[in-house]
Amino acid sequence: MAGRVLRRAAKAAAAGFLHYSGARKAMAAYRRSQSGGRRILIVSYHRVVSDFTGELQRSIPGLLISQETFRRHLEQAHAAGFELASIGDAVDVMAGRRAAKKDLFVVTFDDGYRDVYRYAYPVLKQMGVPAITYLPTAFINTDKRFNHDRLFHLLRCVQERRFRPDYDTMPGPSVQLLGPILTGSKTVSAALDDFIGEHPTRVLTGIIDSLEQQLGGGADLVPEQGDVMNWDEVRTMARDGFEFGAHTLGHTVLTLEPTEVVEKEIVESKQTIEREVGIQVKDFAYCNGWYSDEMIRVLNQNGFRSGVTTEDLPNRVGGDPFALKRKVMWENFSLGLMGDYSSALTVCQFDDCFGVLGMSHPVLGHRPHILSPMNTGNVLVEELDAALAKATPVEVVDVTAPVIATEPRVAVAAPGAQVVVASNVALASEAAQPEELQ
Ligand SMILES: [Zn+2]
Repeated sequence: MAGRVLRRAAKAAAAGFLHYSGARKAMAAYRRSQSGGRRILIVSYHRVVSDFTGELQRSIPGLLISQETFRRHLEQAHAAGFELASIGDAVDVMAGRRAAKKDLFVVTFDDGYRDVYRYAYPVLKQMGVPAITYLPTAFINTDKRFNHDRLFHLLRCVQERRFRPDYDTMPGPSVQLLGPILTGSKTVSAALDDFIGEHPTRVLTGIIDSLEQQLGGGADLVPEQGDVMNWDEVRTMARDGFEFGAHTLGHTVLTLEPTEVVEKEIVESKQTIEREVGIQVKDFAYCNGWYSDEMIRVLNQNGFRSGVTTEDLPNRVGGDPFALKRKVMWENFSLGLMGDYSSALTVCQFDDCFGVLGMSHPVLGHRPHILSPMNTGNVLVEELDAALAKATPVEVVDVTAPVIATEPRVAVAAPGAQVVVASNVALASEAAQPEELQ
């Protein structure tokens, strides 16, 4: 946690210098030339709230932005010379079908939280800014809450009640999550952040079920906040021209699922939105930001034109529309040294100054598709994360066999082996903040 605060302070301090010295514009120009003439910045939000400080007391911080800060982001993107564009515009520019007069800034929302309808939609409508919201359709028109929100709420209950869980009845990795919280070495949000990035949905569900049972059940174990839109709200936004994309049925990380599940989750979520809203769905967001060649194949075969990741890297003309890079935003993204909104910091973030300066590291979402037993998959994914965290982009080139993933950008080797990050990841920008909460 201390590291995160220090990193933010370093960025805030650097931002003032970069912004006022003109270095920021030079960096933006550098990125622009790398991207093939125009920058294509796709940003990702989750919940837009009216009372950030109040919501912070009960929700995962990395998913929150205040309505005021959200509005300022849009105003600042406009003032910085971006065209606030749709995802379709971005795909067309990348494919060379459309020439962009300005850099593009594309607003996206993941998960279809009702906050977006309440607090983002009016701002977008008033300012005439396009946006796309990615819906996990099995949650729409229900009272269900997402696993990450349920787990956060339960962990807070455990903490407040000073409850000692019985690990014997819980999934194996539970102690990794609960231990640091109960000893006070990590906050709930930091522990959850670290844990969700490493463990698949079924482990999270197992912990939720067990904790709910151990805590005695009851309605107060499910969070009040974190509700999603209903179809009427989706239709209202769609009538105003706002777009919707698919985000699976049950918010499922598909790289861990067999082909029939991948096909069902992708095809049925698309068909459900099309049937309920009467629009064509051509865009997809990967849960957790994780994607595979197998998923891209299914998207391609089923009439999709794009897939968004949470890889905080530049999009380039000629780049893969099924691996669109996004910058994940939340309130603290714009927080200056004094804890207030910093215009200099925000615009430096938009212009990717910290990526150019190497003050950040990439979190890549492309994974080998795990069709074998779960345990093997977990080990591989954890090794990939650990190895990437240690690797310095571009410079580690010594791969020992056997190579498991041969996708051009990332090659993962067996335990103890090195990792290659090929040259097109060399200029990785800062890591998406709460990418693991996708
Ligand atoms: Zn999501």
